[in-house]
Amino acid sequence: MTIDNYKFAGKKAIVRVDFNVPLNEEGKITDDTRIRGALPTLKKILADGGALIIMSHMGKPKGKVNAKFSLAQIKDAVAAALGTDVKFAPDCAKAADAAAALKPGEVLLLENLRFYPEEEGKPVGIDKEDPAYDEAKKAMKASQKEFAKTLASYADVYVNDAFGTAHRRHASTAVIADYFDADNKMLGYLMEKEVKAVDNVLSDIKRPFTAIMGGSKVSTKIGIIENLMEKVDNLILCGGMTYTFAKAQGGKIGQSICEDDKLALALDIIEKAKAKGVNLVLATDCVAGDAFSNDANTKVCPVNDIPDGWEGLDIGPDTMKLFADAIKGAKTILWNGPAGVFEFDNFAVGSRAVADAIVEATANGAFSLVGGGDSVACVNKFGLADKVSYVSTGGGALLEAIEGKVLPGIAAIRGE
Ligand code: AMP
Repeated sequence: MTIDNYKFAGKKAIVRVDFNVPLNEEGKITDDTRIRGALPTLKKILADGGALIIMSHMGKPKGKVNAKFSLAQIKDAVAAALGTDVKFAPDCAKAADAAAALKPGEVLLLENLRFYPEEEGKPVGIDKEDPAYDEAKKAMKASQKEFAKTLASYADVYVNDAFGTAHRRHASTAVIADYFDADNKMLGYLMEKEVKAVDNVLSDIKRPFTAIMGGSKVSTKIGIIENLMEKVDNLILCGGMTYTFAKAQGGKIGQSICEDDKLALALDIIEKAKAKGVNLVLATDCVAGDAFSNDANTKVCPVNDIPDGWEGLDIGPDTMKLFADAIKGAKTILWNGPAGVFEFDNFAVGSRAVADAIVEATANGAFSLVGGGDSVACVNKFGLADKVSYVSTGGGALLEAIEGKVLPGIAAIRGE
């Protein structure tokens, strides 16, 4: 079943969206990309004459009610985006009456699902080492089912349009699907687009394929790095990972970020790339700062010869050229993670150079997929989001999909 061939008229649709938007101190939305991302699905259901029950999580309230993470704060923004009134259910598990009262064209927003520990289904207040943990987990899984059943009871049809959480088997992202038959559950437009973008990268690879992996640590990206090694022609590793590689090869890295327990892993990655004929591109020079600050003094130095008291915070000019060459000739590009501490304008130059090269390659016909919170923040910061082929809303979900893992949120709909 797809959102296009389902007849929503007279039906109540419960839609899982990702409205986990960033808020400032006053509770105002600072980036509404995620709300805008869900609009095509929500508007289609309303235009068809359906009633909408919208559910989402926000932040990490850890199973407890916490006003700081209340979705009441975004109700008006959702109403403005949809161009219609939005009712609010202050307790997502006690919204049966509000849902029953909904008329076609009306919208009900449920309070943050993660105010209930059942949403994530992890037992609270008990350590994994505790002998009673397994029992607690079993009990929690049972109450997670009940919670999902309650949510399901509000509606005739379930739509999952929250790609950002598709890699989690949560009550609202996967378990709930068990309470709808195959004809009454489907992916939303955003999910369909995300799945297609990943398919584009994985199933029909136009070569050369260049992947750029940045960010702070090797440890959080190792799964995807190993997996990409099977697929790419050029693998650029940058950001904080650079210094683990430099140190592993005997370099002097000053105060740069480094995972000392991952030095052997770094050498192993270098060997694997060689064995597989993958062109592994590592930074050669960096812009180092004498403090972790935008106002630090800077100097350009080789990544393997950084003076004490200095830390590599961005890629240097030689590296920018090296990376740009590997990017500009590519026909498929995946970018996850910044090349430097892009949050500081003075150290965002390298990430900008990466983004510019991707934009140029895209203009020359490459398919470019940018995903993962920080690289998305980068392209948005540089105003280049509409000059790459696809900007994914998923961080972890995108990486797991590219690793070839089956995402529970998608499997639950497809009955896999
Ligand atoms: P991740 O969450 O692993 O994707 O890492 C993203 C973070 O890595 C961003 O906040 C960057 O500021 C940070 N980062 C990138 N390069 C460096 C670096 N050379 N030193 C410290 N942090 C970095």
